[in-house]
Amino acid sequence: MKTLKIAIQKSGRLNEKSVELLKNCGLSFENYKSSLISTVSNFPLEILFLRDDDIPEYVQDGIADLGIVGENVISETEVDVSYLQKLGFGKCTLKLAVQNNSDIQNINDLNGKAIATSYPVILKKFLDKNNIQADIRTISGSVEISPGLGLSDAIFDIVSTGGTLKSNGLKPFADVLSSEAVLIGRKGEESNPLIIELIQRIQSVLRAKE
Ligand code: ATP
Ligand code: ZN
Repeated sequence: MKTLKIAIQKSGRLNEKSVELLKNCGLSFENYKSSLISTVSNFPLEILFLRDDDIPEYVQDGIADLGIVGENVISETEVDVSYLQKLGFGKCTLKLAVQNNSDIQNINDLNGKAIATSYPVILKKFLDKNNIQADIRTISGSVEISPGLGLSDAIFDIVSTGGTLKSNGLKPFADVLSSEAVLIGRKGEESNPLIIELIQRIQSVLRAKE
């Protein structure tokens, strides 16, 4: 049977938990060091270590059969993949936030305002759905400093504990999307016996944790 490929984050917030999950499934492999691919010695599986942003497209295009990535990244890249299993880690929420002294109190106050974000696709959908016309300013990082610099009136960003917002004088006022790490697969491959076997192993690891 054809060897499966699973894409996981190379380094960052999801790497360690993704590796741990696969190891707990009984898979033996070397963790990422410098090589992008690691071969599992006791299951027909290769692990690809990638930037998380690239994972949904790799799975959609069939370069990887499976991937572990945050739901936020999947929504932002708008790919067509199947959701196979929620994994219970990497939990966070995409929230709208403003400076503590802002007069913006609810989403309707965003009309005509500038919002800085690294998630323009998700934000645009949310604003359209709520009939709000705002100016979306896409920036790739350090979104939380932009209101203080006068670059935006609000931000739309990932929050887990809220500590980063607080230390930048910001307060959240609306939750837009909650997210956790999920196992995704290429559409149409759901009946592959190796994929079914892997999902079963993952589910028993998750159940043992409950
Ligand atoms: P990469 O180098 O792979 O592109 P990154 O910097 O985009 O990494 P990380 O910060 O490692 O990404 O976050 C990976 C994922 O972890 C996020 O997409 C999100 O699903 C989840 N996550 C959980 N909590 C947080 C948080 N407080 N901030 C950012 N991401 C979080
Ligand atoms: Zn990323």
